[in-house]
Amino acid sequence: MNFEEIIREVYLKNQPVEEKGQLPAYIPELRYVDPAKFGVCVSTLQKETYGIGDYQERFSIQSIAKVLSLSLAYSMLGGNIWNRVGVEPSGTSFNSLIQLELEHGIPRNPFINAGALVICDILLTHLTHPKEEFLDYVRSLSNNPDLTYSDRIAASEKQAGYRNVALCNLIKSFDNIMNDPVDVLDFYFNLCSLEMSCEELSRTFLYLANDGYTLHDDKQILTKSQTKRTNALMQTCGFYDESGEFAFKVGLPGKSGVGGGIVAIHPLQYSIAVWSPCLNEKGNSYKGMLFLEEFTTRSELSIF
Ligand code: GLU
Repeated sequence: MNFEEIIREVYLKNQPVEEKGQLPAYIPELRYVDPAKFGVCVSTLQKETYGIGDYQERFSIQSIAKVLSLSLAYSMLGGNIWNRVGVEPSGTSFNSLIQLELEHGIPRNPFINAGALVICDILLTHLTHPKEEFLDYVRSLSNNPDLTYSDRIAASEKQAGYRNVALCNLIKSFDNIMNDPVDVLDFYFNLCSLEMSCEELSRTFLYLANDGYTLHDDKQILTKSQTKRTNALMQTCGFYDESGEFAFKVGLPGKSGVGGGIVAIHPLQYSIAVWSPCLNEKGNSYKGMLFLEEFTTRSELSIF
């Protein structure tokens, strides 16, 4: 498979496409990103990496980090976490409050904000220094000791995070948050503020293509079954209320973030990351979706 050639062709074709997405407005600092940024990187299990465009520039990974927090909680507590958060697509927007009220504070899945807040609460209970230990975990997955949170993005989101505050308090009222919501939110805003490049993201997520083992040091992060289930959740819940569309058009498990990043996995083959900051109406990167649809079509490498 000549990934390099396909990536270059699909990238060059999509770069001049008229941008129909918009920068997210609700996290003030994300408005100042250059909307023309566009990067792609694929990392394979054969230890090959191909990148193009702005693939080495770091950006705010936002909800993509929710896969990593889920992995840590899942590896520590196993299936017990599913007593507190579900595994069904929500069919609602990522920060919706309505379903949570009707379903008594049990979020539909760990990738909507409500579910990610519950996972943060679980980590807060089981880690002694949650922010530091989570960062160490991400650094070991990526084999990169330089990765870090952005204080600037975390502060910006904290200052405007009214819906997340509401979600966390609503879950707490149903006794599904054990810690102080202020601490849960602080941890949540920090993990969403993590910054990585496409190259770093595609390398970090290789464990999900490699049956749960890191490629660089063969360390088991998740069991084979946990890896399968995490990929299944990304497939069904990774793109807000556009998860069906992503499966339909791209056909890979993945996760997006409102920073304009998308990471997608082809089990036993590769991990790919795309970044283009303008988002479609559902909150997914407009050009990122276009790129991945054409990439899996041209490479004929989707899981279906
Ligand atoms: N930090 C963002 C929020 O809580 C994450 C949203 C996303 O990337 O989906 O609203």
